[in-house]
Amino acid sequence: MTQSFWTKLARFWDGDLTLLGVPPLDDYAAGRVRVEQINTVIRYTQAMMIANIVNGVVLVAALWTSAQSTLLMVWLLSLIVFCMAIYLRRTQRPHKKRPMIISARVMRLSSIYGGLLGSIWGLAPLLFFAQSSTHGQIVMICLTSGMICSGAFVLATLPSAAVSFTLPITLGFIIGVLQTGEAVFTPVAILTIVYLVAIVRAVMTFSLLLVNRVLSQITSEKAAETDALTGLPNRMCFKGRLENVIEDLTLNGIGFCMLYLDLDDFKSVNDRFGHAAGDDLLIGAADRMRACLRETDCISRLGGDEFAVIGTGIKETKDAELLAERLLATFRAPFQIAGENIIVHPSIGIAMAPFDGEDAQNLLRKADAALYRSKRERRGGFNFYQDELDGLSQERKAMEADLRQALVADQFHLVYQPFLNLVTHEVTGYEALLRWEHPEHGSVPPAQFIPIAEMTSLIDEIGDYVLRHAIQTASTWPAHMRLSVNLSIRQLRDHSLVDKILGYLHQFGLSADRLELEITESKSIAGIQQVVETLHQLRAHGISISLDDFGTGYSSMTYLCHLPVDRIKIDRMFISCIETRTECASIVKASVHLAMDLGRKVIAEGVETPAQLAFLEKLNCHEAQGYLIARPMPADQIPGFRPQLKLKRHSAA
Ligand code: C2E
Ligand code: MG
Ligand code: MG
Repeated sequence: MTQSFWTKLARFWDGDLTLLGVPPLDDYAAGRVRVEQINTVIRYTQAMMIANIVNGVVLVAALWTSAQSTLLMVWLLSLIVFCMAIYLRRTQRPHKKRPMIISARVMRLSSIYGGLLGSIWGLAPLLFFAQSSTHGQIVMICLTSGMICSGAFVLATLPSAAVSFTLPITLGFIIGVLQTGEAVFTPVAILTIVYLVAIVRAVMTFSLLLVNRVLSQITSEKAAETDALTGLPNRMCFKGRLENVIEDLTLNGIGFCMLYLDLDDFKSVNDRFGHAAGDDLLIGAADRMRACLRETDCISRLGGDEFAVIGTGIKETKDAELLAERLLATFRAPFQIAGENIIVHPSIGIAMAPFDGEDAQNLLRKADAALYRSKRERRGGFNFYQDELDGLSQERKAMEADLRQALVADQFHLVYQPFLNLVTHEVTGYEALLRWEHPEHGSVPPAQFIPIAEMTSLIDEIGDYVLRHAIQTASTWPAHMRLSVNLSIRQLRDHSLVDKILGYLHQFGLSADRLELEITESKSIAGIQQVVETLHQLRAHGISISLDDFGTGYSSMTYLCHLPVDRIKIDRMFISCIETRTECASIVKASVHLAMDLGRKVIAEGVETPAQLAFLEKLNCHEAQGYLIARPMPADQIPGFRPQLKLKRHSAA
């Protein structure tokens, strides 16, 4: 107990305030408190040193006739030397840039300086009071009281320095006064002690107020720089950290890498399980990433499902690669969200400093461009920035902005491409294909803008446009004709999709069994259960499902086994080489047989020549689609469209 008091006292000397009841502070908070304490005092230091010298001269003048002049001069000289030393020290260190943190050593020094100055002042009454004239004693009493009060006041933010300064003065004064043996001075000594106690108490209270103010300032600063959901530093803090590592790069040549991350399937988790589950996923992802980084690395949440990591000291691409792989590896295990196992992958873009740039703007832009490439490749992987990505990224951003405008400005329209029954040679229906007439760039192919729309929520609005307009158009066709609409996998994760489609069917009076939805294989695993459920619901209402671009995706066979599909559309890549490569012919043959064995219908897409058509007919493929039959046409050409006769002539030839 006693020892802990002495330990606390020793720490108090170093500026630690636990003795006063302040809770133990971490290094950062303690450093910040010290900054506030020191900076207030530093402002007055030089003026106070001058005041000390003036007081010393006044005292010496008052005592000159009664006290020993040599001793007086020695005392005054030591005071002047000490004050000038402090004065000059301050001149040499003007502290132009306010430090963020101050060490305990500085606090100890301030206590030592306070103690030394207080001791010089305490020596004056000790040496001279008893031999002074009444006139000198009055001056000394006034001066001592003044020094105790003003010293404590000036050093109010530094309690250890304030005590070190006032205590020796008081002691020296009391001893000096008692040396006279005159009873008249006893109340003066008692009063001085009372003043000292009162003033030290005031200093302590003031210090506590200061600490509390600094602590609440730190708390609010932290809150402003922390992402409330994940507890990670937020965008604002990230910018500050980025500036710090850039400064380190400029001053010390220490390179670093910057990784931009985006969770590939976050939106689908949000749509499927709700926002609370989405939040849980973000928290889980943040915890895993934080755990796999080094102390010196910095991870921030920039907003939504975007994160950024600064790999400090990483100069080599292979080290950045390792870091990216480590981050990716943390996503291999599924997340437990709303009682289900969900796998989510991030895409990562990497920029290296100084190789890719030395300023924050540039690096952020380049990491973002590399991220875009990763997202486009949809691998749940990473990419380094390459110069050619710059243009692509700008282009993408411009296109994203233009796409938003396109819906409002009515720049979309639909064209329709027929399916031909290979037995009857009759048109069985049409596939709706989206077209975008850009005011400057002309017709933009869907292969260019659909992937960009899929990266944002725009795909929902665009998909809605397609469904509404296509269903409205198809409702005017003969009753045996079906309508096929391309659907992005992302749309299938929208909970309201089924109701939306049923709503349009009802609104325009199109029977559900005339609608077919084409889905393309993709590596989106997170929502696969949701996708399967939605497809079952759609089929339960009589809507049929077609697997588009069969054979080109990641897992055609898996899809065929697990998804409730009615038709498969063999990709035109295989049809186009039927005549020239035996491999293509074999793949097409096998695909047709496989689909038939599984009880699915088969459509061959991209049929361009009569020979291709003849080949497919021989295989008993059900339907064909392609330029040979017709190119996609505007809705108003459908009523007069008759392809069969021409085709019969071709295939007979
Ligand atoms: P897809 O669904 O496989 O559509 C077939 C694409 O092949 C269409 O290109 C069509 O014009 C083209 N095509 C048809 N026959 C032939 C042929 O004989 N030869 C050649 N070389 N090409 C042929 P398009 O319209 O540019 O569409 C490209 C892709 O964009 C579509 O592939 C589809 O995945 C997507 N897409 C188009 N419209 C929509 C839409 O409304 N929603 C969604 N989510 N995706 C769409
Ligand atoms: Mg299609
Ligand atoms: Mg296709």
